[in-house]
Amino acid sequence: MAYDDNNIFARILRGEIPCKKIYEDAHTLAFEDINPAAPVHTLVIPKGKYVSATDFSEKASEVEIVAFNRAIHKVVALKGVADAGYRLIANAGLNGGQEVPHFHIHIIGGRPLGAMVQRK
Ligand code: 5GP
Repeated sequence: MAYDDNNIFARILRGEIPCKKIYEDAHTLAFEDINPAAPVHTLVIPKGKYVSATDFSEKASEVEIVAFNRAIHKVVALKGVADAGYRLIANAGLNGGQEVPHFHIHIIGGRPLGAMVQRK
C-alpha cells in the first residue's frame, strides 16, 4: 500500500491539524488520542512516511527504529503508567482494524484493560 500524504497523522505532522503533544524528538511524535479508550490513551508515531508496523520494520533505518522504541517508553514514563501496567497496540490493515494509514502505537492504560482480544 502506497503512503497517503493526506492521512490525518501526516497532516498533524505538518502542523495542519492541532494535537495535544506529549513528546517529540527528531524521529518521533506522541500525542493524545482524540477519542480515548481509557484514562491514558496516547499515540506514538514515527515522523517518517510508513503505512504500518510491517512497512516500518522493513524500511525504517536502525536509528529511526531505536528512536521510536525509546520514545514509546519515554511516553510510558511521562504518562505514569510504567508501574501499574499498560498495553501497546499496533493495528495493521483490514483485519487489524487500522483506521489511519500512518504507522502508530497506542499506549493505553490507567485502568485494568481486561482481555487482550475478544474471543468469538
Ligand atoms: P487505528 O484504528 O488506526 O489503530 O487508530 C487510529 C486512532 O487515531 C484512533 O484511536 C482515533 O481515535 C485516533 N484519531 C483519529 N483522528 C484523530 C485526530 O485527528 N487526532 C487525534 N489526536 N487522534 C485521532
